[in-house]
Amino acid sequence: MINILFSARPQLWDVYRDLLIEACAAKGVDINLGTDIPAEQVDYIIFAPNPTLTDFTKFTRCKAVLSLWAGVETIAPNTTLTQPLCRLVDTGLTQGMVEWVTGHVLRHHLGMDQQIKNQNGEWAPVAPPLSKDRPVTILGLGELGAACAKSLVQLGFPVTGWSRTPKSIDGIRCLSGSPAEALKDAQIAVLLLPLTSQTENILDADALATMSKGAFVINPGRGALINDHALLAALNSGQVAHATLDVFRVEPLPADHPYWAHPNVTVTPHIASETRPETAVEQIAENLRRAEAGEPLLNLVDRTRGY
Ligand code: NAP
Repeated sequence: MINILFSARPQLWDVYRDLLIEACAAKGVDINLGTDIPAEQVDYIIFAPNPTLTDFTKFTRCKAVLSLWAGVETIAPNTTLTQPLCRLVDTGLTQGMVEWVTGHVLRHHLGMDQQIKNQNGEWAPVAPPLSKDRPVTILGLGELGAACAKSLVQLGFPVTGWSRTPKSIDGIRCLSGSPAEALKDAQIAVLLLPLTSQTENILDADALATMSKGAFVINPGRGALINDHALLAALNSGQVAHATLDVFRVEPLPADHPYWAHPNVTVTPHIASETRPETAVEQIAENLRRAEAGEPLLNLVDRTRGY
């Protein structure tokens, strides 16, 4: 029997408890799961950011920390954490992100806002272009970025994807190196990068200026990927026609933040895609099985890269 500490916001305990017990039983992993196991008895930690656990030094026999989140920028730099850290890759989360990104790309591509506003008897036929004439750039070609890119390619969009290491994905122009080259002439940019010291403020004034005039920015990645002052200036000058932002430097977005009042910004409250407990527990249980069997863990975070 292994002792597993569940450390997350209290609401998640009821959501995950039975699912985790069932998923582990199905893998033949015998667990004692709890929220208040003494630190020195803990074998594994299932973790989502919460204020009660920031110091991992007392977990002297803990073998791994398994994140319930895909983004690990708050825990990866924690120097008290010396155990392996695994992030979550979840089929439900990926599907949710594909749906959210595709929906917002189509909204801007088809000019849906204009049609919805025009419900006042104004007959103003302006047909949208076809997707083949709307270049989209996705910064980040990992689990989520690549899945979104494939979905947009299926709809006919010319998609450029940008990653740290070179990639080759059918139907997608894959670039690494300078983000400016990837963003050049893009009409829609989607940000699906992790937040690291390398990616912070990656969408700055220079990067925005390389995009096509009147471009759209869609950010379900992390708020600090964008230089907010540069984006507001680009919105005010018309370089960017609209920004749909799901994530922010400070969340919840403060009530007096200019994004709330800007007519060309859509704020969504970090809902682009959630971890889906029913599918997420599969990876957690599989990693516990692997760890106990001495097999390599899935989705290990490279702490030096920060993701
Ligand atoms: P991932 O699989 O780790 O992919 C990250 C991608 O970013 C990879 O292609 C990686 O390049 C690229 N990258 C990282 N650093 C880079 C750099 N310095 N220059 C160029 N490319 C770089 O992550 P994921 O699962 O797709 O998730 C991406 C992010 O989405 C998460 O970190 C999280 O912040 C965010 N997210 C948001 C929500 C939401 O609801 N809003 C939900 C889940 C996740 P390589 O392929 O070369 O490594």
